[in-house]
Amino acid sequence: MTDNQKLAELVFGDVDKTPEYYESLYPERQLPEGARVTRLAPSPTGYLHIGGLFMGLINRRMVDANGGVFFLRIEDTDSKREVDGGVEAIVTGLHDFGIIIDEGFVDNDTERGNYGPYRQSQRAEIYHCFAKKLMAEGLAYPCFCTEECLADVRAKQEAEKERTGYYGKYAACRQLPFDEVKRRIDAGEKFVVRLRSPGKPDGRITFDDGIKGKIELPENDEDFVLLKSDGIPTYHFAHAVDDHLMRTTHIIRGDEWIASVPKHIQLFRLLGFKVPKYNHAAPIMKEDNGGKRKLSKRKDPEAAVSYYAEQGYPADSVTEYLLTIANSDYEDWRRANPDLPHTKFKLNIKKMSASGALFDIAKLNDVSKNVISRMSAERVYDLLLGWARQYDRQFAELLSRDAGFARGIFAIDRGGKKPRKDIAKWSEAKDYCQYFFDELYRADYTLPEHISAADAVTILRAYKAVYNPDDERDQWFDKIKSICPSANFCPEVKTYKADPDSYRGHSGDAATIIRMALTGRMNTPDLCAIMRLLGTERVNARIDSAINFYERLV
Ligand code: GLU
Repeated sequence: MTDNQKLAELVFGDVDKTPEYYESLYPERQLPEGARVTRLAPSPTGYLHIGGLFMGLINRRMVDANGGVFFLRIEDTDSKREVDGGVEAIVTGLHDFGIIIDEGFVDNDTERGNYGPYRQSQRAEIYHCFAKKLMAEGLAYPCFCTEECLADVRAKQEAEKERTGYYGKYAACRQLPFDEVKRRIDAGEKFVVRLRSPGKPDGRITFDDGIKGKIELPENDEDFVLLKSDGIPTYHFAHAVDDHLMRTTHIIRGDEWIASVPKHIQLFRLLGFKVPKYNHAAPIMKEDNGGKRKLSKRKDPEAAVSYYAEQGYPADSVTEYLLTIANSDYEDWRRANPDLPHTKFKLNIKKMSASGALFDIAKLNDVSKNVISRMSAERVYDLLLGWARQYDRQFAELLSRDAGFARGIFAIDRGGKKPRKDIAKWSEAKDYCQYFFDELYRADYTLPEHISAADAVTILRAYKAVYNPDDERDQWFDKIKSICPSANFCPEVKTYKADPDSYRGHSGDAATIIRMALTGRMNTPDLCAIMRLLGTERVNARIDSAINFYERLV
């Protein structure tokens, strides 16, 4: 046995498996040519950032395009950041916004798939097995340097204007003789396991990033930590071991990891693993005081995916908005294919912006209004009711009391060439349909300035006398025209405009008076359809109330 092998036995005496064991436990996946394996690897902080959803979407779409597997791995090696039920928010957020997970965690406690465990805290023996292999080959070693000792080295490096880090002559524990290491371990001294990096200080590496293109960086010559003193792996080490054994083919992650790629490529090579294809995406940014910054969990409510669920943005709206951020040609595609589901759009990772896209809630609202305007009344009703059941119980009860009636509200002005675009999110829907429910209705009898209360009384009385709930739209409007002379309103708007002084108003004004009396609003969708849905009784009662109100002003 070499000293390195003896050392590996000393440090990892309890490891009873070999790398070959894991290689055969997690065999190459049998996937069709061109299929991909991607993953999302968040920490279970009880929070899903919109950037996490964005990454989830891109990963998912990469797999959907060519077949393969998208899995969710929980990176819980930093227990300080973990919260109870922390997986829940991630799984729920992905689920609410339509990201299907093929493998890994499907709820807080359940994982599925043959490449698990999918939670790093349950993979300790796997990491130790591969760390042992590196140590036996002389590629890893125990390091006893304390925090204070490392801080001293750093101070010295800074004073001498040297690059900071544990490398070359600064790697104090690199060449410790076996006997000394054994003595210190036997004495119970704490240690971490470091890589013995074969990198040269002047070496360079290049790799072809799927989003950013060719990238050249200094080779890694740092003896960075693989296992912390409690045996828990660092991100770098866990990334290499996990993504190899889970047979990930494409790493799509935030570009804050680019600087670490030299470490990662080195690790994959030293471990004898195939290097995956790296794709580093720019984060979603926010405009702030003329500058750009990342969307912050602390400052921006819209950073949390739960915000979109609470506000009631349909999953398709958020997805379509994220697709506009991901590929700038998405909007052209949508215009050319208004009726196709967004899943038909072929996301091209190469076309992703290399610098951070700006998050724009006004744009999201626009996209969402379009998405909702294309939905059928049934779908609007179902999604709205689902949202209301969770976030507005009173509204949910109203909506489900008479489903046919509620669906009717959303059928008005829907389905034509130019559907209305009034609603961007379900939390706006209650206000939108307020006048359909007596419980929500707030009358407002404010008239346009040029119309008097006395004229309103005349018009409303005359209208009540001719109103017939069965009238079709043309007939309905003819009736409004027919009552105009009673208040000296002009039935034809054109005629009125040619000679406004001869009239007190026109048929449009008459419709406004009726509209205000029935809905409390100056603008609404098709009033004729609204009246049909409101029904004779309600129409008459509201007209009577309005007449009462205006009479008191006369
Ligand atoms: N746990 C890492 C993070 O939260 C994952 C990065 C990666 O996707 O490799 O940023």
